[in-house]
Amino acid sequence: MSGTVTGSLGDGGFAERAARADADDPLRAWLERFEPLPSDVVAYLDGNSLGRVAKGVNEAMVNFVGEQWGGRLIRGWDESWMNMPEALGDRIGAAALGAGAGQVIVGESTSVLLYKLARAALDARPGRSCIVVDTDNFPTDRYLLEGIAEERGCTLRWVQTDPGAGLTPDQVATAVDGDVALVVASHVSYRSAWIADAAAITAIAHEAGALVLWDVSHSVGSVPIRLDEWGVDLAAGCTYKYLNGGPGAPAFAYVRREHQSALRQPIWGWLGSVDPFAMGAGYEPSAGMRSVLSGTPHVLSMVALGVALGHLEEAGIEAVRRKSVALTSFALELADAWLVPEGVAVASPRDPDRRGGHVTLRRPDFRAVNERLWKLGVIPDFRYPDGIRIGLAPLSTSFAEVYRGLSALRAEL
Ligand SMILES: *Cc1c(COP(=O)(O)O)cnc(C)c1O
Repeated sequence: MSGTVTGSLGDGGFAERAARADADDPLRAWLERFEPLPSDVVAYLDGNSLGRVAKGVNEAMVNFVGEQWGGRLIRGWDESWMNMPEALGDRIGAAALGAGAGQVIVGESTSVLLYKLARAALDARPGRSCIVVDTDNFPTDRYLLEGIAEERGCTLRWVQTDPGAGLTPDQVATAVDGDVALVVASHVSYRSAWIADAAAITAIAHEAGALVLWDVSHSVGSVPIRLDEWGVDLAAGCTYKYLNGGPGAPAFAYVRREHQSALRQPIWGWLGSVDPFAMGAGYEPSAGMRSVLSGTPHVLSMVALGVALGHLEEAGIEAVRRKSVALTSFALELADAWLVPEGVAVASPRDPDRRGGHVTLRRPDFRAVNERLWKLGVIPDFRYPDGIRIGLAPLSTSFAEVYRGLSALRAEL
């Protein structure tokens, strides 16, 4: 009956619960596969913005610089670096995207890849002049599409979404018709963590003859994705969040195999051409995913990403998802017990099947509260207008850390 009471605030037995959950966690060994937190950080709750440093990355970078860059110099391109974008793309596809080989490539930033894929899709649907996008999609997605609309003289059809939830199949069904070339949506909402029903939305868009481009930045590495099975046409996503690739690590693009020969992205660079070193007179695209590339691949970043990805490959995305649901459920329990009575609103789905890897909590003073938490070494992030996002990267976050972070938030209120 009696819960453990620590300090001046009764904790309802949650500290003990956290300790038990950590002891029972099938992925507990993975907590040791990341470099320790710096001594001034009490709880890192922002792995969905920048994932932590995986063990092995440091050594791999040092080795690469010494032996590969330093030792092989220009010979390294022919020997092994040139095909890293496809090789790593295939690994991400298998580990996290449900994508068969030959459909994923690591390229530039998410923003640039989204631009390339959206332009290619629009051009593949001549006579259709509309792109469907929702009002709460990630800013870069919305801005890029605004730019494309201006550039190509097409219109954006905005779906008004609930910022505490996200895009639904019904909304998409209402928005698509014979004038829609493309639907662009986020699989997991960066704000609420809403998981869109990607299979249903893709099918609805296809019935109307439109293509679909999924931004999987906030799901890759935390929520299982099945691009092949869902019939998805195009996708792109980040590698520096749940994939732990490091700041500025390049993004990946997926193009369904059956579209690869027809789609043409707009940035025609030499490394996407059929034979870059022929230095030919005109551009002729390479076959397959290579044509998505434009310029020289981001080799150093891919070295770090490759090491980090190994930890996810070993854990398996289904086990990662089980832990993710347990972590966000625990965070919600703590929020309900400690924070909701203090005027905090939960702005993420309660249904675990619709909730991705983070939990957003809102209160009008949360911008200032977030600043105070950072000073205490508790690091969630703030999202306008009044949301604190508790990001819970499953492989590197313990239940005790969730407990410490939310205890600090409680104390601040
Ligand atoms: C983080 C994120 C991005 C980031 O794009 P960059 O080009 O890497 O800055 C894009 N879309 C979504 C949904 C994101 O969560």
